[in-house]
Amino acid sequence: MILSIENSNAPLQDYGIQIPLLADRYTNTLAAVRAHPELSRCTERWLKVADPLAFSREQLLRVHDAKYIDALLSENPLEVLGEVFEFVDADGNFNERYIETTANRPMKELVEKRLAHAAGTLIACETALEEDFCYFLGGGAHHAMRHGGRGFCVVNDLLVSVRDLQSRNKIKKAWIIDLDAHKGDGTAEITQDDKHILTLSIHMQKGWPLDEDSALNEQGQLKRSYWPSTVDIPVPEGAESFYLELLKNGLRQLEILSGGEKPDIVLVVDGSDPFEKDVLKSAALLKLSLEQCIERTKLVYSWLKAKDVPQAYVMAGGYGPDNWRVHAGFLLEVMPARMAPSSL
Ligand SMILES: [Zn+2]
Repeated sequence: MILSIENSNAPLQDYGIQIPLLADRYTNTLAAVRAHPELSRCTERWLKVADPLAFSREQLLRVHDAKYIDALLSENPLEVLGEVFEFVDADGNFNERYIETTANRPMKELVEKRLAHAAGTLIACETALEEDFCYFLGGGAHHAMRHGGRGFCVVNDLLVSVRDLQSRNKIKKAWIIDLDAHKGDGTAEITQDDKHILTLSIHMQKGWPLDEDSALNEQGQLKRSYWPSTVDIPVPEGAESFYLELLKNGLRQLEILSGGEKPDIVLVVDGSDPFEKDVLKSAALLKLSLEQCIERTKLVYSWLKAKDVPQAYVMAGGYGPDNWRVHAGFLLEVMPARMAPSSL
């Protein structure tokens, strides 16, 4: 199943934020799948369109600090969103990323839309538990940490979803496999002491957020920026031809570290910013071809399918007019086979 959440797209420019995040990744991906000759004849069998239903305060508090959530849900969330979208500097001053006079909608609405969009990840997980597979056209805010959002990520939809399912005894154990170009550092930080959630992140070795050479500072304390995932696979610059082999090794390590226990669900963060045509400067140190991007996601899909584990996918990072091809390419490879009578 492919999941689309209605009316939760919110162009940041409407709120005075000058960051050109393109929402057409969702629509272009969906249009490409719809255009497939066989899939176009049975849309109702693979497309689920859900109404937005925002995460509640109670759900968010299982992952984030109350101080942050209360500020986020307040009448004026401008200051905390300034940290998330990086338009407030260390001294509390606004930079050119936020121009109040260009805003034509209230900032509170942006929070509501983001929380509604984020809750799509939970619907995707529930759908995957029922049907083995769901690909959400959105989600994947993996930089949001316990103390608050960062790196354009408002709340960690992956972990809010997992912990909600755990609280209702729908699942016990989950894995999060993160294929975005940037390390899933928020996910790693929040799950440091959580034995029920294992994480794997394959990402650029250098760049933001840093994988530092040492986890400890000069005083022997854990550096704030270093939060290890269960399995981290830093990919050196220029090592694209080894990427798939590195990923295979990482998956094997994850299996070993799980002690052979299968998870009840796996969330896959299908970031398209490792794609060579991505335009974000901070993702430039990893340049996979379109074929490599599609192969990487297919590798994870086949590995999990062989284990017979429910799989929920989110899109995460991807900046530029061609990134939708990564998501669409994967879906066009797997969806026709999933719709074939033999797979029913
Ligand atoms: Zn990214």
